[in-house]
Amino acid sequence: MLEARAALKNVPAYRPPLAGRDGLRLDFNESTIGCSPRVLACLRSLDMETLARYPEREPAERQVAGFLGLDAAQVLLTNGVDEAIHLVCCAYLDPGDEAVIVEPTFAMYAIFAQAQGASVVRVLSGEDFIFPLSELLARISPRTKLIAVANPNNPTGSAVDSAVLLQIAHAAPGAAILVDEAYFEFHGETILNSLAWPENLFVARTFSKAYGLAGLRIGLLAGAEHQMASVRRATSPYNVNAVALAALPEALKDRDFVERYAAEVKAGRALLEQELRDLGLRYWKSRANFVLARIGPTHAEFVRALRAHGILVRDRSSDPGCEGYVRLTVGSLEHTQMLIGALREVVAELGLRREVRV
Ligand code: PMP
Repeated sequence: MLEARAALKNVPAYRPPLAGRDGLRLDFNESTIGCSPRVLACLRSLDMETLARYPEREPAERQVAGFLGLDAAQVLLTNGVDEAIHLVCCAYLDPGDEAVIVEPTFAMYAIFAQAQGASVVRVLSGEDFIFPLSELLARISPRTKLIAVANPNNPTGSAVDSAVLLQIAHAAPGAAILVDEAYFEFHGETILNSLAWPENLFVARTFSKAYGLAGLRIGLLAGAEHQMASVRRATSPYNVNAVALAALPEALKDRDFVERYAAEVKAGRALLEQELRDLGLRYWKSRANFVLARIGPTHAEFVRALRAHGILVRDRSSDPGCEGYVRLTVGSLEHTQMLIGALREVVAELGLRREVRV
């Protein structure tokens, strides 16, 4: 009988709740206003020829590299950051190797690492989700081949300094250090332009969030040239589709659009954090386009009640250390105002207890 690889049997099925997402979608950290109108116009103008040909990644790759101030050989366009994570795992993890992650964090690091047959070493964040640097350093072993850090992190919204990430990279020269900057635009700080780029450092970025293109599936992986040559060997030549490649240059050109949206999100994030303080709900200061709040035992009712008000948010209770926590995406100011209005009503409806202020 045909049997799948043993490693896959241990991989938990990851089924994000994508069905029936009617309402204001503040559950997946997508943009609530979509992409730049210039990108949409570009997509609408695509001709049959673009679709008939196999997509050529290199021209768009050169443009993205220029945008980031890197050489084209250092950049690989990917089918979202998800594929970037997958490729790093394919390139560096053998069965029996170890992948270190800091929990709670984005689920795909552990999933792709396990799919390679690697064991996942889970380092729990400290109280208040403080980055557990010394615990992480203590878990590095000769078997460590990957350390993945989302910066800012999902679902906590917290960020670590580049100096900390560089320290990790130097402490584990035999491991790929993947810094996932999916939420970079809402944070503004990056390790990408670090002058002393260690050869084991990789940075991932996405067009799914600030650029409003989650459905197009486009992201990138950057790293040292000779490491990227290895990663490139693991990918399909057509991993990014022609439609995404055609839209990318326009997305990069309309910088104003992304900057304005990121500024709006940051302003809305401050308003939402203020509101959570006023409501007496505990939250964690966020550097991303979402805020994690502690709702407590009524977390499921809270999510249901917001849905009844037409707003979708994500219960993160099953994440390690997140029992009773809900993640609220911050969108445009208008959408954040809608969230705040609904929050006030739901908190009153459920009679949520005031908690310790942050
Ligand atoms: N990394 C992090 C930290 C994320 O939160 C997400 C999306 N939830 C992704 C990567 C996935 O990004 P993409 O859409 O580019 O695959």
